[in-house]
Amino acid sequence: MITATQGVKVTSTCATCDGVLVRDVGQFIDRGRLSWGVEGRCRLCSDAWCEMGEGPAPEEIRQALMAEHGTTRLRLATREAGLVPVLRALREVCHLSLGEARLAAADLTGVGLVGTSVEMAHLAEGLRKRSVATTLVPSPA
Ligand SMILES: [Zn+2]
Repeated sequence: MITATQGVKVTSTCATCDGVLVRDVGQFIDRGRLSWGVEGRCRLCSDAWCEMGEGPAPEEIRQALMAEHGTTRLRLATREAGLVPVLRALREVCHLSLGEARLAAADLTGVGLVGTSVEMAHLAEGLRKRSVATTLVPSPA
């Protein structure tokens, strides 16, 4: 079951025929897991492929999504949230070290963590599972 998704079409030059290559890139949450995908097809020749993965998307995909759709900022809904469940969710969802999780937790209580809408929805879900309420604020590109 896909619970969140965001995509963008990126065009470039086909390496095979110099035609227009259209890549459909996106991020989604599939059964609670952060995932990404690329579907490429040349408008001129028969070049086509599909690639999918789990976990953080390649930086190129993230940048394309944020350029098209903007970013989303995630903040804790209250300052009363306990630090322990926040650190646990960050380490579990984002696979951060304890030091990295502490820095991310400080951002969550302050200016907010920024990423693609799907990444932030995924993290918000992980925090919600640990009873930590959050606020998602989209900032358009
Ligand atoms: Zn081609």
